[in-house]
Amino acid sequence: MSALCVDATLSRMDERARALDAAHRAATDFLASLPDRPVWPRATLDEMVGVFGGAVPDQGMDAEAVVAELAAKADPGLVAIPGGRFYGFVIGGTLPAALAVDWLVSAWDQNSGSSLVTPTTVALERIAGDWILELLGLPASASVGFVTGAQVSNFTCLAVARRATLARLGWNLNERGARGAPEVRLVVGEHRHGSIDRAGRFLGLGSDDLDTVAADGAGRMKPEALEGALAGIQPGHAIVCLQAGEVHTGAFDPFAELIPLARAHGAWVHVDGAFGLWAAASPALRPLMAGAEEADSWTTDAHKTLNVPYDCGMAIVRDPADSIAMFRTGGDYLVYTGLDPWDISPELSRRARGVPVWAALRSLGRSGVVELVDRLHANAAAMAAGLADIPGVTVVNEVPYTQVMFRLDDDDATRTLGADILEEGTAVVTGAEWDGHAVLRCSMSSWVTSPDDIERTLAAIRRLVAA
Ligand SMILES: *Cc1c(COP(=O)(O)O)cnc(C)c1O
Repeated sequence: MSALCVDATLSRMDERARALDAAHRAATDFLASLPDRPVWPRATLDEMVGVFGGAVPDQGMDAEAVVAELAAKADPGLVAIPGGRFYGFVIGGTLPAALAVDWLVSAWDQNSGSSLVTPTTVALERIAGDWILELLGLPASASVGFVTGAQVSNFTCLAVARRATLARLGWNLNERGARGAPEVRLVVGEHRHGSIDRAGRFLGLGSDDLDTVAADGAGRMKPEALEGALAGIQPGHAIVCLQAGEVHTGAFDPFAELIPLARAHGAWVHVDGAFGLWAAASPALRPLMAGAEEADSWTTDAHKTLNVPYDCGMAIVRDPADSIAMFRTGGDYLVYTGLDPWDISPELSRRARGVPVWAALRSLGRSGVVELVDRLHANAAAMAAGLADIPGVTVVNEVPYTQVMFRLDDDDATRTLGADILEEGTAVVTGAEWDGHAVLRCSMSSWVTSPDDIERTLAAIRRLVAA
């Protein structure tokens, strides 16, 4: 190598080291600000587009300067999700080991679709998958596809379910496509997550292809209503979508009653347990999941209850042959080496998103996972008890798991309280409609949330309600 070329390489390495140090400092500063910064962003989307936007810059700039510019300008538009008082939607924080290893995943830059090229990361994902099956009490031989989240997991599992359902009816979907295929009905609960409908759309199944089954007051599918819905469908033509963890109430479908009904009708059973599947890891909460292990496929997230960084969900299928039959690709430049990530999920090239799951599980151990899930539930119980003590506040749901729903007597007052909480800055709760009323919801999904966070949140809500 010429001296000039060596110099250029060294200066690039120096630039990279300086940029990584700057990113480390910026990350540490942001994380240190979490206990005291307002949780909701202080800038709007338009303001942030104004801060960063404009024409494509003509000249490039040094990587460290790029990081510094970003860190200096980004702050007002960041939301304190990794802190202890973000309770919106169903969103977890990030465990230290998972965060650090996520950085390593980017530095390693392993394209983890195939074990041939990236044995370390594929091995770690396989082990993480095996550990999850064991912790959640699911069949050890199931396939675990690491996907971006529960939405894509629901799509992945339902794609597998539809192909397998049609195959049992003598129709080869991969050869013949969907045109003229036997009818497949998606049987869904009244309180399913919207990602089930979207997953259906990705598969060419519209709302006319759905049979909606009535739920009880907590959002649990009613067995007699499922029986009624199945009676209108030819045996072997249904995919029944059940739910572990309703997003507002945290309620679980009664699997032990529902799954045998679906089975008797020759249906595939899918369980969306984006955050609820983790109840199975806790001896105390496991009864909520009783019978769910009898399903054919399961969706869960790691970026919710397990508290790894976005993007990370798992598509779990009882018989790996069903996943492979749907997803194994025929590209002749792709070498088959057995069960590879790209054989069981929709992507080819991708980051090793399952490695932070390995890190989270390695850092927690079984006892730590149990403790985490139990603590999230205890936090929900504490939040519900504290809210119920505030004059004028009604807690709307029983709290079987991690979700708490509350309201004031008047819908407009409830909505105003929601806006006031965001503005005041101590915490974030998000709004919804339940049973014809405006409600506010707290999802207790962050490993960081402490008794002090709950007390500060309750004090802020108490002040706002009184005012
Ligand atoms: C969050 C959630 C989803 C969607 O998950 P993403 O990770 O956002 O794709 C699906 N189902 C349920 C029950 C959820 O809570």
